Amino acid sequence: MTFTLAIVGRPNVGKSTLFNRLVGKRLALVDNQPGVTRDLREGEARLGDLRFTVIDTAGLEDATDDSLEGRMRRLTERAVEMADACLFIVDARTGILPTDEVFADILRRKNAHVILAANKAEGKAGEAGLIEAYSLGLGEPIQMSAEHGEGMGELLTALEPIA
Ligand code: GDP
Ligand code: MG
Repeated sequence: MTFTLAIVGRPNVGKSTLFNRLVGKRLALVDNQPGVTRDLREGEARLGDLRFTVIDTAGLEDATDDSLEGRMRRLTERAVEMADACLFIVDARTGILPTDEVFADILRRKNAHVILAANKAEGKAGEAGLIEAYSLGLGEPIQMSAEHGEGMGELLTALEPIA
């Protein structure tokens, strides 16, 4: 049995960094058109003994401010519907922003199985943001550094019940 995990969260929190770490070069279901921006990227992830499909939500970075929320909403809802669970990433360095609350509401309304992660939490700069992440009401955040590979064991533990 395998499962699908959607990585969601606002731009710049580190979703693609984690996606790339999990997937490496094993990109699936993506045709090789250079320069084409894809809103949803899918890949075959490996973490410990687990093999699963992971979806990266992108395509928000180039949206204008007034179209951002609607687009973000549609894209996130689509990813949630495709997935068995969602990894909701927030940025431990910036702390929780109003946009993070918008994502939390979408996930709650969709009744998604949510795993919360506070990324960029390497070193002391992320400590306050990690504590703030509890205020989202989505449980205990995984302390993560996608860039440095920290928190991968905790992520594995959180994913094992879904597998
Ligand atoms: P996305 O927009 O959510 O896909 O975010 P990206 O993966 O593109 O990352 C946005 C920026 O955050 C990039 O400059 C990354 O190098 C940086 N970043 C990602 N993960 C980490 C992390 O764990 N720690 C730090 N300090 N920076 C990170
Ligand atoms: Mg990205």
